[in-house]
Amino acid sequence: MSGHQAKPLVILGATGSIGTQALEVATRLGVPVAAIAARRGSDRLAEIGAAHPDCLVGVAAPTREEEQRFTAQFGERARFGQEALVELAAQDGCVVVNGVVGFAGLPATLSALDAGNRLALANKESLVAAGPIVLEALSRGTGALIPVDSEHSALFQCLVGEPPAAVRKLMLTASGGPFFGLGSEELATVTPQQALNHPTWSMGPRITVDSATLVNKGLEVIEAHYLFGIPFDDIEVVVHPQSVVHSLVEFVDGSLKAHLGEPDMRIPIQYAISFPDRWPGTDEPFTLAGRDLTFRTPDRSAFPALDLAYEAGRRGGSAPAAFNAADEVAVRAFLEGRLGFQGIPLILERTLAATGWDKISTVADVLEADREARAIAGGLVGGAC
Ligand code: NAD
Ligand code: MG
Repeated sequence: MSGHQAKPLVILGATGSIGTQALEVATRLGVPVAAIAARRGSDRLAEIGAAHPDCLVGVAAPTREEEQRFTAQFGERARFGQEALVELAAQDGCVVVNGVVGFAGLPATLSALDAGNRLALANKESLVAAGPIVLEALSRGTGALIPVDSEHSALFQCLVGEPPAAVRKLMLTASGGPFFGLGSEELATVTPQQALNHPTWSMGPRITVDSATLVNKGLEVIEAHYLFGIPFDDIEVVVHPQSVVHSLVEFVDGSLKAHLGEPDMRIPIQYAISFPDRWPGTDEPFTLAGRDLTFRTPDRSAFPALDLAYEAGRRGGSAPAAFNAADEVAVRAFLEGRLGFQGIPLILERTLAATGWDKISTVADVLEADREARAIAGGLVGGAC
């Protein structure tokens, strides 16, 4: 459907799960794509660049061959290096979909906000690691931050039109991941292949493993704290294996509002672009009859990463950045077969114990916290852990 007053899209992480779905939304809506970027100069990125003849094409970490190839194919449209993402996120009058995975998404988040653009944020790591700095960039400029993460899109939608003082509690739903119901002993022997097999969502590898450990939900608790200004004591996690209720808000009068829908990221991506309007989607109508929706409390002893995230969030300062960095290191080690599944929360716990509390005032502070935690976590993975 075309004819919407949509601004052109900048899609960062265009070859990933979020990026691919953002491109589908753009095509469906007839929204122009002003720029795309990914880490590597893959065939897929080149294909997307060719399909959108006016868009800039950024490659954050190209090989020499990729640089030559993209220069030959895209000429003036090609950009290289991490700073390319900063430039693309600052394109005038765009909506920036940040679908980069990991801490690497931070400069683009800040750049989009500083340029006064609307930021459709999937890259939760930038908000988790640098919450106060992102919020400052948001309040300083004319940009806007609309969450894409399904739980936060759900909360955002439940909160539209509600006075902040009316909110009692946020309830984030968690699918529980592929290992819901398993105990610590069974978890000790699970493989990367099993962890990558998510029951309800199809996503990139890191977030899929994070869903299995509940790290993802922990990151989302911190994300919700910064986005909505709600204390950690008033943010609850509930396991809901069907992934149909995407999150809920409880209000002071005892009312609850929930957001429901199929587990399909194109819905929150589109809402982040269309807000405050709603545009038609092409998805099948939702049928409630015949569905069993169940809710459970998370198993905090089998999945200790959830409470570690709360701890990092409550400590604040550099702790959330350290938590995220340690997890990036641990997940990579797990996927490469260098660390067991239950080694992931162990790395998180020990990294948090080994890092000091530092105030985060500048981007340099966050970079330092990230670097330090990566070094500690890397040492722990390489050691006896
Ligand atoms: P993915 O692994 O499928 O894709 C990641 C993308 O980021 C790729 O295009 C990759 O090239 C790019 N990238 C990686 N490192 C980069 C770098 N240094 N510079 C530039 N680009 C880089 O990941 P995904 O599942 O799409 O997740 C992306 C983000 O969205 C994550 O923060 C994730 O937590 C969040 N998220 C994803 C989903 C989902 O359904 N996939 C849902 C909610 C939130
Ligand atoms: Mg989510």
